[in-house]
Amino acid sequence: MKQKHNLPFKLFSQSLTVLKQLSRRDFLTKSSLAYPALLSLGMITSAPAHAFELRQQNKGKHVVILGGGLCGLASAYELKKLGYTCTILEARHRAGGRCWSIRKEATNTEINQIQQTAKFDEGLYFNAGPSRIPHHHQLTMQYCRELNVPLEVYNNINENSYYFAEGKGALSNKKIRAREIHNDVRGYTNELLAKAIDQNKLDLAMSKEDMEKVIEYLRAEGGLDIHKLYKASARRGYSDAPGAGDKAGKIGDPHTLHDIIQSALLDPDFYNVPEYTYELQMTMFQAKGGMDSIAKAFEAKLPGTIQLGAEVSGIKNTNTGVEVTYKVKGENKLLSADYCICTIPLPVLSNIDHNFSSEVSRAIDFASYIPTGKIGLQFRRRFWEEDESIYGGITHTNNEITQIFYPSNDYQSKKGVLIGYYNFNDKAKRTGALSVSDREKLALEKGGLIHPQYSKEFENSFSVSWHLTPYSLGGWALYTSETRASIYKALIKPEQNVYFAGEHTTYLNAWMAGAFEAARSTVTAIHGRVTEQHLNYPVQKN
Ligand SMILES: Cc1cc2nc3c(=O)[nH]c(=O)nc-3n(C[C@H](O)[C@H](O)[C@H](O)COP(=O)(O)OP(=O)(O)OC[C@H]3O[C@@H](n4cnc5c(N)ncnc54)[C@H](O)[C@@H]3O)c2cc1C
Repeated sequence: MKQKHNLPFKLFSQSLTVLKQLSRRDFLTKSSLAYPALLSLGMITSAPAHAFELRQQNKGKHVVILGGGLCGLASAYELKKLGYTCTILEARHRAGGRCWSIRKEATNTEINQIQQTAKFDEGLYFNAGPSRIPHHHQLTMQYCRELNVPLEVYNNINENSYYFAEGKGALSNKKIRAREIHNDVRGYTNELLAKAIDQNKLDLAMSKEDMEKVIEYLRAEGGLDIHKLYKASARRGYSDAPGAGDKAGKIGDPHTLHDIIQSALLDPDFYNVPEYTYELQMTMFQAKGGMDSIAKAFEAKLPGTIQLGAEVSGIKNTNTGVEVTYKVKGENKLLSADYCICTIPLPVLSNIDHNFSSEVSRAIDFASYIPTGKIGLQFRRRFWEEDESIYGGITHTNNEITQIFYPSNDYQSKKGVLIGYYNFNDKAKRTGALSVSDREKLALEKGGLIHPQYSKEFENSFSVSWHLTPYSLGGWALYTSETRASIYKALIKPEQNVYFAGEHTTYLNAWMAGAFEAARSTVTAIHGRVTEQHLNYPVQKN
């Protein structure tokens, strides 16, 4: 008799059922990682670096670029290589947009909040926006190479970080090393599978020889003993570390599967997805000294091109080009150009006057962006390294803070800034609605449950809620398969002389690579039009 519902498959099918119960939209909007989620659904592929050698000159055209984030900067950089005249109008008093590293004296005034000024010590910072570069985002890697932005490894995965589940199980409200949960769950599920295969309880069309091989693999993968039982292995760590002489060390006792399940440690908050996701697999990188070095490197290549403090208030297609109205220090100004690349995030653009078609106007108004926020906490001592041997990586929780990111730079130095929360959706909305001091309180209280050192070592904080930050009003664009077919389509073609570009016009939302892909693709389209060539992006080398 075949057993249809044996335990290992029950466990797997339970996870599948949870996933199936979420609509695709839910999955994407509830997922902390919209782009990784799209990747894992096979809806998109990763960002390759393309040969980009456009030919012919520009016929003296002037392109006005709205927004000096990475897309605007890269667009101007590439257009200027072709001899175009470019003007970037940037509302903030800095370039880089979401690519922003918070250092001493950085300021932010969110909607309904007091102005914050960062008090971090000289040399300390955190990345409020992008913090990691996947090794296969070749375009981001290529621009770093081309612009001499030094990179260092970003440690995204750390088995020595913690899982912390608030709840009522035996393992709840305790910090548990990630390696213990990973290896115990791996051990138990492999034990169950090995047993089921051994007892022919699975309907597998496999030869005896293949089955033996699979069982051998499951034993190795799960760390099972010769009887195919999981009794803990050294992978989950030691309760008594090995040392000199007769100090053999003692492997820690495994948690029971029941306790792990009852303590919510198999819940979606703790799925191992981040580590498995294509985009988040090691090796990952960060720009040395702060991710905004990338924006600064572009800025250095664009002298006289960027007008800071220029807030665009109107965009009009005319018979001969575009007219852009903007304000500098309260004074209204008008700029005419042949073409416009508009990289303003859609929730901001939605409040700007324009004469676009109703289809485009609707698309701008109905686009959805993820609410997200981070807080940087400065501590006078890197206790996570000194006391707990945590060097980079992420602690996951199921409470409001969602996760703690430990810095992947300046290891073993004295002080440090860690990211005390990085949350999304409803948690980010609730956190963002708190006053700046209450956000700090929340981060300290919840983080203090994991690291009691917080209370003694904390110095100061700076928080950013992207959905409440003027000129961004969201983390990144979120699309579903439905909105890809409607809203999105309207935004990826030019509206007469205006081209929309930015991470929101790509399938690389939530990534700098999206801004770069959009820049190159738009520059190709404009250049093809100006020089009357048929150019398709990516442009192939010939
Ligand atoms: C919290 C967070 C984490 C992220 N993590 C990563 C990561 O780890 N790795 C990664 O690769 N990417 C990450 N990203 C994504 C990455 O930051 C973005 O995809 C990229 O920076 C977007 O660039 P952009 O030029 O399209 O948009 P933006 O950077 O938003 O640029 C738009 C510009 O328009 C300006 N603007 C707005 N309104 C006006 C106006 N009225 N007039 C003039 N100018 C205006 C803005 O000030 C801004 O400079 C993250 C983003 C966030 C928010």
